[in-house]
Amino acid sequence: MSARPNREPDAHLAHNYSPLEVTLSSGEGAWVTDVHGRRYLDCLAAYSAVNFGHGNPELVAAARAQLDRITLTSRAFRNDRLEPFAEALAALAGKDMVLPMNTGAEAVESAVKVARAWGYRVKGVRQGRATIVVASGNFHGRTTTIISFSDDEQARADFGPYTPGFVTVPYGDAAALEAAIDETTVAVLLEPIQGEAGVLVPPDDYLPEVRRITRAHDVLFVADEIQSGLGRTGATFQCDNAGVVPDLYLLGKALGGGIVPVSAVVGNRDVLGVLRPGEHGSTFGGNPLAAAVGLAVVRMLETGEPQERARRLGMILHERLRALLGRGVVAVRGAGLWAGIDIDPALGTGRRVCELLMERGVLAKDTHGSTVRLAPPIVIEEADLEWAVDQLEAVLDELGGASPHGSDEAERVQTV
Ligand SMILES: *Cc1c(COP(=O)(O)O)cnc(C)c1O
Repeated sequence: MSARPNREPDAHLAHNYSPLEVTLSSGEGAWVTDVHGRRYLDCLAAYSAVNFGHGNPELVAAARAQLDRITLTSRAFRNDRLEPFAEALAALAGKDMVLPMNTGAEAVESAVKVARAWGYRVKGVRQGRATIVVASGNFHGRTTTIISFSDDEQARADFGPYTPGFVTVPYGDAAALEAAIDETTVAVLLEPIQGEAGVLVPPDDYLPEVRRITRAHDVLFVADEIQSGLGRTGATFQCDNAGVVPDLYLLGKALGGGIVPVSAVVGNRDVLGVLRPGEHGSTFGGNPLAAAVGLAVVRMLETGEPQERARRLGMILHERLRALLGRGVVAVRGAGLWAGIDIDPALGTGRRVCELLMERGVLAKDTHGSTVRLAPPIVIEEADLEWAVDQLEAVLDELGGASPHGSDEAERVQTV
């Protein structure tokens, strides 16, 4: 073993990530700057946690003001920020109660507990038997219970034993979902669009069918909108685009305005009301700093402006991306300012495309081998969005995507 000091930039970090070779030190709006002063357009936005941009002035002002007042009280006492936040968030969602937590995974865990308690106390499921139906390809977080119902081997292997009580059905298949429901089923837990799976959009009638089926069988519909919600898809919730109202919304990521972790379970009293004092909690959940930032986020969404902007810019983004089909791109999916782009594997991996994009000043993230996703902050300037797609186009050309021999797909398109 060498005794020399290790000069790796992250030598003292557990290796649970393999970041692109860039070290960021500041950011403003959709732009970030690295330690060498190089600027990049952020087209990941921290997996949609930075929907409103880096250093959003309104959100930073709310955080600053609260820093000077009080930041943490625990829920052993009330704080004067939490109820206003809960009231506004519940109203935004058309519900009447909020369970505040910190991270997305905690919101999911909380919903699992709430759904089980509702099953035993309201639906009358036999004690210890409650099941929750989930979808294949899901991503709901990283805790031991949540990975227990993941089918991503990388996320699961060597982390067992797993939590029982989950049934997996194919995503997008309402008939399979209905067939999986029995007298033990307390909830169906789904992402309205599967983000980590590659921005997978289910068939148009899927979510309405899930709503009809869950209602018919007295089962809770829990929508994990942690990544899809709060403006990203051109609506407050992706469920709005699908015309459905779930029993519980799970929110996180953008709810913290890119400043602090803030998550929540939002629902009505007949469900969230099952929790009794002492049964569930979090030291940091609902802290005054988080609540102040969360309230400022809700106020921003109440105007409808971010949703409208994501819708308008999303149309431009998707039109530009569709034009790349057959030029190194084999499929494009998404909604609003959110796209999953399948790169022709013959051109290179998604990772390689992201590395080349980075050389051109665009930060994006690959998923599942050959998919690149784009989810820039909603505050991105239209010209910058166009420029980002120009860079993707240039990378694809560089890899041979536009040439007739670049790929089978390109050849096929050229011969039709
Ligand atoms: C990111 C994410 C989570 C987990 O959120 P964390 O804050 O990372 O725990 C859960 N569900 C979905 C859909 C997500 O995208």
